[in-house]
Amino acid sequence: MSDNTRRVRVRFAPSPTGALHIGGVRTALYNYLFARQHGGDFILRIEDTDSQRFVPGAEAYIIESLKWCGIETDEGVEQGGPHAPYRQSERKDIYLKYAKQLVDNGWAYYAFDSAEELDNMRKEAESEGKTFAYDQSVRTKLKTSLALPQDEVNERIARGDQWVIRFKMPENEDVQMDDIIRGHISINTSTLDDKVLYKSADQLPTYHLANIVDDHLMEISHVIRGEEWLPSLPLHYLLYRAFGWEETRPAFAHLPLLLKPQGQGKLSKRDGDKFGFPVFPLLWNAPDGSSAMGYREEGYLPQAFINMLALLGWNPGTEQEIFSMDELIKAFNLEKVSKAGARFNPDKAKWFNAQYLRTTPDAELAKMTAPIYAERGIDVTEERAAQAISLIKERATFPRDLVDLTEKLFIRPTAYDEKSVNKFWKSDNVSKLMQLRDILAADELTDPARSEAKAHDWVVGNGYSMGQIMNTLRLAIWGVSQGPSIFHILVFIGKDETLARIDAAAATLGQGA
Ligand code: GLU
Repeated sequence: MSDNTRRVRVRFAPSPTGALHIGGVRTALYNYLFARQHGGDFILRIEDTDSQRFVPGAEAYIIESLKWCGIETDEGVEQGGPHAPYRQSERKDIYLKYAKQLVDNGWAYYAFDSAEELDNMRKEAESEGKTFAYDQSVRTKLKTSLALPQDEVNERIARGDQWVIRFKMPENEDVQMDDIIRGHISINTSTLDDKVLYKSADQLPTYHLANIVDDHLMEISHVIRGEEWLPSLPLHYLLYRAFGWEETRPAFAHLPLLLKPQGQGKLSKRDGDKFGFPVFPLLWNAPDGSSAMGYREEGYLPQAFINMLALLGWNPGTEQEIFSMDELIKAFNLEKVSKAGARFNPDKAKWFNAQYLRTTPDAELAKMTAPIYAERGIDVTEERAAQAISLIKERATFPRDLVDLTEKLFIRPTAYDEKSVNKFWKSDNVSKLMQLRDILAADELTDPARSEAKAHDWVVGNGYSMGQIMNTLRLAIWGVSQGPSIFHILVFIGKDETLARIDAAAATLGQGA
């Protein structure tokens, strides 16, 4: 039950089964925003009780991803906290007591069926066109503590037979539930089976038991998680009742799925591979040797990535699209999260990145791009890179674009764009360019506006065409008759280099046709 006086405590509870999907990052983000907004706590709990699906490296990946995104945890596997440990495999000893408590209260029972017996029952049902369900119709007929005499149950346990504890789903009851996003939900228990809560084989709880026990012990006030857990909600409600914890049951919010860019269905790694966008925050090197691209390595800024994710499934109800983390914390509203799935748009992700790149200080961009310049053999100080970047950053989406677009400020062109040459490298233009060369040689070339005004006066005074001459100049300097403001380029590369480039073009291209 959520009451307003309760301290807000939320958790992100991933299972370390592989790379963290961006849908999972969004779940973490919404939890984080909600916690911060309410001055509450955000907890990272690792749910690693399914040893079959455990993937080494996944936990470290999750932690690094959250850090990259700027999602800070208050308690969790790394920093510990009042409810440590936060890794379920290290809490192993806690759960059996709770499973047994449910058996003692009549809310659960022992079942001794072997995997083979269960398999046979499944196959038999299938051959009759039915699906086998372990539920009220079979629980008193199979090898369970509800069917066997108590002595035999005790004996089986004492001699070390394998058993599981199953939840005894009540018969024909409408479970009444509330979801912050979806409203009131009612489900009849006759459609639900008796889920396994604990297994003697590995002495581990299943997700359902561990999740409820830990949410209770960790005093979680709100459970904010993906829509795929909605079918488990009736069982979870009933578990709270069975334990007598209804008073402190958390409030629930099930987030909509992230959908493919086109069509229906959940956004998958396959979609990313097919259309060339990442579905994971960081590069993921799987233990099997395969790898998958990440937003970080593709050149996304974490703030842009977070901003984009925040708006997938929630909208502020205004036109505002750019939100810093602090603005998100203020504006986020769990009740305004949509029920319908949110379609992922890779172009919009790029758009966000371009917006953030633009507002990042030049000096920071220079730092960010230093390794890319170095990789390309361009020896440039950060100060100089920052100046270069300031000329073109409006046109970049990724940091590598900043280098692409400024490369020629540092490296004299050796090839000239054929189309531009055919269009502008005409003898008439070239002879005027050589006159302009003299003007530039006599200029200081330290102030783009002043030099441009001077050139302009000279062009107009002679009755020449500014367009023709400037494009010819640009071709000589830049190798193509397009690019950033030409006088900014000239001032940046300096007078000597300006004249040298004009001469180099003339030497390579001749005097024009
Ligand atoms: N371990 C579950 C997962 O991997 C947690 C679901 C929940 O938040 O209850 O998503």
